[in-house]
Amino acid sequence: MTLPRSTPYLVIGAGIHGLSTAYHLAKELEARGLGAGSDIVVIDKHSPGAGASGIACGVIRNNYFQPAMAELMQACVEVWESDPAAYRYNPVGYMALGAACQESDLATTFERQQKIGYRSELIVGAREVDAHMKTLFPDWRARGVTICLHEHQGGFAFNVDSIMGLVAKCEQSWVRVLSGVEAKAFELGPDDSVRAVITNQGRIEVGQVVIAPGPWAKHFWSMLELPPTIDVHTPSGDVVRDQPMWTYWNLQEGEIRVDPRLFSLPDGSMPPVIHIDSDAPLYTDDGELVTDELWGIYFKQDKHGVQGGASPLKVGPEVQLDPYPQTTDVDPDFPDMWCAALSHAMSRFEGCRPLYKIARSGGMGAFTVDNFPVFDYIKPNAYCILDSNHGYKMIGVGREVAKVVVGEHSSLLYPFRFERFATGDLHPVSSSPYPWS
Ligand SMILES: Cc1cc2nc3c(=O)[nH]c(=O)nc-3n(C[C@H](O)[C@H](O)[C@H](O)COP(=O)(O)OP(=O)(O)OC[C@H]3O[C@@H](n4cnc5c(N)ncnc54)[C@H](O)[C@@H]3O)c2cc1C
Repeated sequence: MTLPRSTPYLVIGAGIHGLSTAYHLAKELEARGLGAGSDIVVIDKHSPGAGASGIACGVIRNNYFQPAMAELMQACVEVWESDPAAYRYNPVGYMALGAACQESDLATTFERQQKIGYRSELIVGAREVDAHMKTLFPDWRARGVTICLHEHQGGFAFNVDSIMGLVAKCEQSWVRVLSGVEAKAFELGPDDSVRAVITNQGRIEVGQVVIAPGPWAKHFWSMLELPPTIDVHTPSGDVVRDQPMWTYWNLQEGEIRVDPRLFSLPDGSMPPVIHIDSDAPLYTDDGELVTDELWGIYFKQDKHGVQGGASPLKVGPEVQLDPYPQTTDVDPDFPDMWCAALSHAMSRFEGCRPLYKIARSGGMGAFTVDNFPVFDYIKPNAYCILDSNHGYKMIGVGREVAKVVVGEHSSLLYPFRFERFATGDLHPVSSSPYPWS
């Protein structure tokens, strides 16, 4: 398919956000009699799913301490639940198990979930948590865990399959999804709006453009001539000057090659995704101390084994992103730590270290200055979806962006406007060791 010379709506990036926006925009245009899917072109410099969406662990949860994140995530889960078959969504639920220092955060999160009607339960106390876990996993043996938030919604989806589900939905709505088209520059008009996008396949005039670049956020930030550092106004009125807008983190993930059914519920069905943070000392199966500080991992049943990850590693303001994700890998100590933690949690994983799959793993993410997304018009007709690596689970953001693009307000996206750094309207911070909680 050749690149058209103009389009009313151009979406850059065929990941979860770009494709979800395109599909929902097609529906909005038709429903309002404003146009059709054929008014929308999606371009990707490689192909759908070539970015972070194609390698994400796929975990879908609502364990967020920030009210705005929790409400947005509830809307996202609604979209996943709307078509589990097309999105290859597994609604198995999600469990966040925490140490004593996380009790108050998880209790607050649970209370908010009750208020907004997100189905979950809270189990408090080491003995109570142990008993709850043993009903699901009789060989549960984790220590240093005193609270469990069991979300009965959410779960995980198969990354590439769900992207292909979205591509099919786009194409059925007559949206054109073009691979191998790289946005190289923006041609701005006198009012600072984007008049055209210059690509490796030619120039394309645009009415509106939605930019959904995943880890390439910083690249687009500089193409749009935005400052690499910004001043951040805090809720207390202080100003922290010259903060780097973008920082890269390396997401550490891996898998053990086992029969996936090894990690099942007693009746053989797929178990919830598990995230455990513990303050008990962590040892390998050979008795070597891995750490005596707070540690955490997450894991889920996958197609060919058990997959998961641990805390990401901060890299800094510059990385080599391309070819993605081949330029990244996990810390050499990650497999020992992750396998030790699996075995700490359940005896079925004892001795699993030799089964760790030796392969390139993990991937880079671009995080904003406060580690929360920026969803906003950055130019008068250029909407940016910069998710700060929160976002495979955020399939509903595209639905909200589609509404904004046709002129509606989205109260779910409003808390994520760029202006928050100037007004001090920042999101509260939890005591989680992860930059995404
Ligand atoms: C290892 C890892 C595990 C993760 N696990 C989870 C998880 O379990 N749950 C969760 O919710 N989130 C997870 N995330 C985060 C999540 O994957 C991302 O936040 C989300 O996928 C970003 O989606 P996107 O559509 O913005 O970007 P992407 O999926 O990265 O898509 C951006 C697209 O833009 C294209 N592109 C880039 N530059 C150009 C250009 N100049 N011109 C045209 N096209 C361009 C790329 O080829 C790419 O296809 C994980 C991330 C990583 C790295």
